[in-house]
Amino acid sequence: MTAFEVNEELIVWAKEHIDSIPVGGTWSPQGAGVQYHKQDETTWALMSMYDHPETHAFHNSVMDLFGELGVTVQTPDGFEMVVPPLDPTQVAEQEFQQRQAIASGWACDCGEPLANFNLERKYDEYVETIDAQLDSGNTAPVELWRTHITCPACSADIAMEPQDYHLLAGDELYMTWHTDNHTYKALTRIELKERADKGYFTDESLNGNTMYDMYHVLGSDHDEGKVPPWMWGLMVERTTRKRDEEEE
Ligand SMILES: [Zn+2]
Repeated sequence: MTAFEVNEELIVWAKEHIDSIPVGGTWSPQGAGVQYHKQDETTWALMSMYDHPETHAFHNSVMDLFGELGVTVQTPDGFEMVVPPLDPTQVAEQEFQQRQAIASGWACDCGEPLANFNLERKYDEYVETIDAQLDSGNTAPVELWRTHITCPACSADIAMEPQDYHLLAGDELYMTWHTDNHTYKALTRIELKERADKGYFTDESLNGNTMYDMYHVLGSDHDEGKVPPWMWGLMVERTTRKRDEEEE
């Protein structure tokens, strides 16, 4: 991501997008190397920024855009530029860790940190299917989903972007889908290998029914409802949903 032109269309989009981020929330445009934190409705703070020409150009455009929206951006004391690593995998890793560190600081309106929530107890809700614009100029249908978690202190229902839940909860919980009756957990390559070594997937054990009943490859639709897109095409292990533990 690099510099962009601030036009009417962008201002309308940004106003809506920026307004929808709650106070205390973070905006970190993918691949831009910069993160902003919302202090109040009209004030943002610069959290971290790569010392990279494209990031500087991008940030300058953001400053123009925020200027149009009447938003001021503060640079906190002790703010330091981050020198990006040369290795792209390391860049991705570092960005993920930064976002995760920010996510761990989120809290419910009542003050309870999201890190204290029972993150195992989540509900993935299908919202709608939109036509997303592709770089090629074509459009493609994209499903929008929300992940719900419950505040242990005030019982508030908190709906979040599945990606944000991923940051908070990590791979294992993110890659788990709960239906009314079952829990479907995606298996890693190592877990599949271990089960294969134990002979779980031979014709004999699959025809024996117990294994056939436990292991599934998920498509987009399932008897028990629509499958979240991040679970599509994965081998999952099905277990009966643990209800007793949930309803304390
Ligand atoms: Zn709360």
